[in-house]
Amino acid sequence: MTGAAPLLRDVFGFDSFRPGQEEIVDAVVAGENVLAIMPTGGGKSLCFQLPALMRDGVTLVISPLIALMRDQVRALQASGVCAGALTSGNTEEETEMVWAALDEGRLKLLYIAPERLAAGSAMGMLRRIGVSLIAVDEAHCVSQWGHDFRPDYLKIGALRRALDVPLAAFTATADAETRDEIVEKLFDGVPPRIFLHGFDRPNIHLAFTAKNNPRTQILQFAAARKGRSGIVYCGTRAKTETLSRALREEGHSACFYHAGMDAEDRRIVETRFSREDGLIVVATVAFGMGVDKPDIRWVAHADLPKSIESYYQEIGRSGRDGAPAETLTLFGPEDIRLRRTQIDEGLAPPERRVADHGRLNALLGLAEALKCRRQVLLGYFGEESEPCGNCDLCDTPAEVFDGTEAVRKALSAILRTGEWFGAGHLIDILVGNKTEKVQARRHDQLPTFGVGREYDKRQWQAVFRQMSGHDLVRPDPERHGALKMTEAARPILMGEASITLRLDTIQKAPRRPAVKALVSEEDAPLLSALKAKRRALAEAAKVPAYVIFPDRTLIEMAEMRPGNLDQMMAIGGVGAKKLERFGAAFLEVINGESAPMHPARRKLAGRAAGNVYDQLLQAQAGLMRGVDGIDKVMSCSASQLARVAQMRGDDAQALERLLGARHAERFGAAFLDVLREAR
Ligand code: ADP
Ligand code: MG
Ligand code: ZN
Repeated sequence: MTGAAPLLRDVFGFDSFRPGQEEIVDAVVAGENVLAIMPTGGGKSLCFQLPALMRDGVTLVISPLIALMRDQVRALQASGVCAGALTSGNTEEETEMVWAALDEGRLKLLYIAPERLAAGSAMGMLRRIGVSLIAVDEAHCVSQWGHDFRPDYLKIGALRRALDVPLAAFTATADAETRDEIVEKLFDGVPPRIFLHGFDRPNIHLAFTAKNNPRTQILQFAAARKGRSGIVYCGTRAKTETLSRALREEGHSACFYHAGMDAEDRRIVETRFSREDGLIVVATVAFGMGVDKPDIRWVAHADLPKSIESYYQEIGRSGRDGAPAETLTLFGPEDIRLRRTQIDEGLAPPERRVADHGRLNALLGLAEALKCRRQVLLGYFGEESEPCGNCDLCDTPAEVFDGTEAVRKALSAILRTGEWFGAGHLIDILVGNKTEKVQARRHDQLPTFGVGREYDKRQWQAVFRQMSGHDLVRPDPERHGALKMTEAARPILMGEASITLRLDTIQKAPRRPAVKALVSEEDAPLLSALKAKRRALAEAAKVPAYVIFPDRTLIEMAEMRPGNLDQMMAIGGVGAKKLERFGAAFLEVINGESAPMHPARRKLAGRAAGNVYDQLLQAQAGLMRGVDGIDKVMSCSASQLARVAQMRGDDAQALERLLGARHAERFGAAFLDVLREAR
């Protein structure tokens, strides 16, 4: 579309839209009510920031977290956009600046914290400043079911009605219930235009491993990625603290984060994480929404997430910049039991619990997948795809076996003991282990006793884990730890269905997955140097590193090695404003010291006029002392040359007006030649 593409390039520095962005931008610019569901890192911010620049008036952005708003405002300002935030975290000067910009009609985006809407004065103020669009980020915060619920979000509906302007809502949460709630609460039940697609994040490597020695597994995974920013998600607060200590003892820079910490300490971790290169945060799911860092290189789950949506959102925090990122999710029978129990013992109404079991099942299906994990994952979100080539099962296909016989033996052990026992005791029966408990219950008299001697204890554990994963057995909430058969298992028990299981990998030493390098070996030193420069600039400006340039941009610089500002402008992520501010500094890293460029020329970098300017300069050099080389030295100023370079026609009179009669006499003809040739 016209208008959007140049802004995309010049302001945001992107060559093209990501999947889905363009249609959303079009609809928002056109003033439609929009609900856009896009994965984390899919690029939602752009879908309201770009339209805000194309529309008259102020776009009001409602976003749940102050830290996140401030980062976005800073990034916008760095790209030359007039944006501001009104939050409780503002300094007086910041607030003053926002008001001045509003008064002068310059402000394009106003970020506001939802609690501000509660103030009675807010409505009048928002009406006065000419809000023409409301953008709601993290719109799932209106959902009372979600753990991100923000009561103040419920005021947005009334705000939309009062201002009577279009509203665009954004979220990464895909499930139908949340979607319906957003439509009801934000749009008064009148369905907006809904965009739902683009769920693939092909740069994220997916991997699951059965828990063996989880601490060692996580430490190994982190060791292979030392110096790269990552998140380790844990199921409990205590574990975040012990694991972060363990990581520090191994020489990593690591800290922990959970909801039990006070707000100030949590903020410190968030800030450190966004600023520092290579910090590891070991966290509970409380560490989430506030994380807007695009260059997280890996995410590990020390414990199984609670649903396929949570999994997707958590791994989705890595690699937002599109550069390679890696993930590892550990899971074991205890995780499955814990998650099931949490659902059963939770306070949600019954139909919600059924849905929660379903979402957990989907995740377990992914964990126990026998083919490409991405196919399974995207399949869940309704997308069909080819094997991805970027998951552990594409790397090394699963070894499988017909597990029907084993599963039937296990089920029979469960049924013959009245569904009263957990996996440990059942395995003792299967392998013929005469423990005290077995003898006391006379379970050595059962026909099932010792029928499973072909497998050892560990292998049986893997079979039971996979049975849980396929939802063939569930823990009975009434009988602590006891396993109960589900209806899904009946056809297998009756010999009407068979089942394929993974030949489990837990006995083999866990393979260390090869670490993917971000750039080839020969470009690696340059990339480090570029990162060092970025860190220095970021520290000086007190902004997160990616606000200067994202990883992806630095990678492209290291690979393309632009030799001048024009070539630099062609790098993805380099817009006009950033080129002006940082271009020379990074060029210097790439090419060493170089002749400084006049600011007037720098403004033309990456444009045809830049080239014309250079030719004018050359033509001028030949005429400094006149055609015969004997006249008085004369030259035009850089800004005159820049203006000539940007002239639309090749009109001699216009040229004379620009240069003055004397200069036109000496250079006019030669300059006109240059201009004619350039057209
Ligand atoms: P979300 O809010 O959907 O999680 P963001 O808006 O934070 O995602 O964007 C994630 C990353 O993607 C950011 O680093 C952003 O600069 C980058 N990005 C967004 N749109 C594009 C695009 N069209 N081309 C390249 N990078 C993009
Ligand atoms: Mg976002
Ligand atoms: Zn795959």
